[in-house]
Amino acid sequence: METWLEIDLKKLKNNFEYIREKSKSPICSVIKADSYGLGVKEIASELDKLETDSFAVAFFHEALELRRLGIEKEILVFNYIPEERLIDVEKNNLTITLYSIEQLNEYISSNLDILKNISFHIKINTGMNRLGFDEEQLDYLIEIILKNNLKIEGVYSHFAHVEDYNFSNSQNNLFLIIADKLEMKLNKTLKKHLANSVASVKYEGFYHNMIRVGMLLYGLQPLGDTINERIKCIFTWKSKITNIRKVKKGERISYGDFVVPNNMEIATIPVGYSHGYMRQLSNKAKVFILGKKYPIIGKICMDQMLVDISKMDENRRLGVEVEVLGDNITPEYLAKLSETIPDDIICKINPNIKRIIKR
Ligand SMILES: *Cc1c(COP(=O)(O)O)cnc(C)c1O
Repeated sequence: METWLEIDLKKLKNNFEYIREKSKSPICSVIKADSYGLGVKEIASELDKLETDSFAVAFFHEALELRRLGIEKEILVFNYIPEERLIDVEKNNLTITLYSIEQLNEYISSNLDILKNISFHIKINTGMNRLGFDEEQLDYLIEIILKNNLKIEGVYSHFAHVEDYNFSNSQNNLFLIIADKLEMKLNKTLKKHLANSVASVKYEGFYHNMIRVGMLLYGLQPLGDTINERIKCIFTWKSKITNIRKVKKGERISYGDFVVPNNMEIATIPVGYSHGYMRQLSNKAKVFILGKKYPIIGKICMDQMLVDISKMDENRRLGVEVEVLGDNITPEYLAKLSETIPDDIICKINPNIKRIIKR
């Protein structure tokens, strides 16, 4: 095998239990986008065993996959679902998000009988302006809900800039005003949820009836914070050295016109941008081999990269294991180098790369 991803379920358990202990709240595990690119199958069944209270995904097809895997807990779908899928939503007992009057009207004009059996959570816009009802739409929304006898079970919103406590606090205040009004007018206790990973460990008081956690489960650290030692990175992306050669000062290396500044010993690693390793990291990032870091040199290719191992001791040989991402080459480090966020780094890992599960 040229490259593979190791997933450590013990570390997933550690993170889950830490979040539970810290927040003392029911947990909705967010496993959208194939568990942030890591592979949803094993991660979902482990979280199921750990007794997560519910799951959330972005799209309908992801929720169906979870039902096929035997997940029986509540699954909340965050994003748009076309009205022709409402039959399957009902059949699979999924919970879906209502976020606009237009969407609600589309559903009502399609199939009201089915609609009455579907559980909804209402999404409120508290400042992100992506999905969600605005405060001034509330009265009209309530009128439609009552008239059509819709099954509303929850209400939620989403933090837009969780690093900013004051802005988050204003979102929380608006959320509570709207959620309380909904509960009163619908004469019903609703599941209220707002906090994402960062809010769940940084700010008490935003937990309400449930927290929705994604990144922390997988061991991604909030950017700009000191590393939280209790959270463990659950994945290691590995490969091995497939070729070693000497190049002389002045020779070119890889694609393009990059010239090596000194005599070097170069290792070839069979990982490239087709595997989801970002090409922007060419000449920037490092990899980890036998306890030390070595720089990528020249342009990253479609399925290979070159690494300067001149400083490596006599252990250099073919087949030596290389970490391209994990505890030592962290997603936070690669994210900073490529001006993105750690989530983006791991979501791009090609799903065809073999996942090796460690229990
Ligand atoms: C992705 C997502 C989450 C989880 O966010 P993390 O920062 O990864 O914990 C929570 N809620 C919504 C609506 C999301 O889209």
